[in-house]
Amino acid sequence: MTRFNLRTIALSLCVCAFLVSPTNAQESTSILIIHAQVADGTGKPLRKTSVRITNDRITEISPNLKPKPNEKTIEAKGLVLAPGFIDIHNHSTEGLDSDPLAETQISQGITSLVVGADGDSPWPIAPWIDIRRKNPVTLNVAVMAGHATIREQVLAKDFKRISTPTEVEKMSQLVTQAMQEGAIGLSSGLEYEVGSYSATDEVIAMSATAAKFPGAFYMTHIRDEADKAFEALKEEIEIGEKAHIPIEHSHIKLGTVGVWHKAPEYIQIIESARKRGVDFLADCYPYDAWHSNIKVLVPNKQYEDPKSVERALSDVGGASHVTITAFKPNPSYEGHTIEELAKQNSVSAVDMYIRLIREGDAANTEAGVIGQTMIEPDIKALYQRPWVMVASDGGIGSHHPRGAGTFPRVLGLYVREKHWLTLPEAIRKMTSLPAQRLSWKDRGVVREGAYADLVLFNPKTVIDRSTFKQPFELATGIEKVFVNGQLVWSDAKPTGTKPGRVLTPAN
Ligand SMILES: [Zn+2]
Repeated sequence: MTRFNLRTIALSLCVCAFLVSPTNAQESTSILIIHAQVADGTGKPLRKTSVRITNDRITEISPNLKPKPNEKTIEAKGLVLAPGFIDIHNHSTEGLDSDPLAETQISQGITSLVVGADGDSPWPIAPWIDIRRKNPVTLNVAVMAGHATIREQVLAKDFKRISTPTEVEKMSQLVTQAMQEGAIGLSSGLEYEVGSYSATDEVIAMSATAAKFPGAFYMTHIRDEADKAFEALKEEIEIGEKAHIPIEHSHIKLGTVGVWHKAPEYIQIIESARKRGVDFLADCYPYDAWHSNIKVLVPNKQYEDPKSVERALSDVGGASHVTITAFKPNPSYEGHTIEELAKQNSVSAVDMYIRLIREGDAANTEAGVIGQTMIEPDIKALYQRPWVMVASDGGIGSHHPRGAGTFPRVLGLYVREKHWLTLPEAIRKMTSLPAQRLSWKDRGVVREGAYADLVLFNPKTVIDRSTFKQPFELATGIEKVFVNGQLVWSDAKPTGTKPGRVLTPAN
């Protein structure tokens, strides 16, 4: 019903445009892409065909399509045409204001991104959506409601405790408000400061409230991705089962020495939950290193206790595995590992960690760190599961190479070089699988009637170029990107058009 109405509106807008300005209408009437190898997003094998875009939709798919007079035609021989990539975990909330062309994102083929992950979201939702609608960007945007954000609305600075039933009730009311205002689901970051004090029941209550809204899901950075990763996984599944809500497990990983090589057991727990009917999907970024703040290293929060710190550093494989990416009180630390900094300052690694905590606390900040603490066999095992999708956990301005490299890296490294995935399967993980979690029926697929969010790329050359030293280097091999039928990326640069929309459950 809604879709039909929207289409009618789009159609009438198009007629108006034609009447008012025939020149523009002629330009925007249709685009024909010929001789492309189409990966339609469903995982089906590549198929050589031609695709016609009319306004914001894909209108015809057939190998026999011929250009109409004056029709813009794109020769796509040797290229793959896929649905635009959907990044379900993206930290571009601020970046969208400073960089509305989102060059690092569209150059990867991302055409829609979801912000508000890890429990931390814009607030309140309605004015945020309003501002985004008035200031469109190159790609589509959707927003989650953040559990920690809502928790802080109710508990303010007194969040280091379990909430009372009355407070949980208030938080649930705010979930309802956020969902009514256009949030697409509830996110949590139970490993982070504010979320970590919540009891499981609080999260279940809030998730159950979200679950009343069509298409809503629970996206979570679970309570522990390290030694207690199994307990945290069980809690997550319990939340999904008791709240009757689909789950999106954020950046799935096994992040300490103690759980390395345990991906098969992790997978088994998830797959037996799926067999019981738990709607469990996960996303995974294609790197062996995470990016967060320095405090997540010490799960018991005893940041100045030498024993706890020593244990934490050895759990991640040693102080050489932790690199400081950002530290306002002392930028000279940036780019160095804790091991290097300890040597430079003639202190132990444990003392160096404690010094970083104290200098950070004094300036009311925390060091950003990259922890190289995952191993390839686990990443491979997870990536090869059909319920694991690709997401960046990056975004505009990310100091981790995933911010500019995630999607081309999977296509270049995991598909072409390592053969972990077939090309159609990798594309499915970037398109229809996230669209399934988001309940987006008309995106994430190349089909007549679907929105023309499309990526044209060269499967022989596509690859990431961003590194930990140069995280903003743009990927190569993504030739053209369309968002809602308009070309946003071509000839290795943005075209300057900003056709992105805010996607809420209502549209
Ligand atoms: Zn996270």
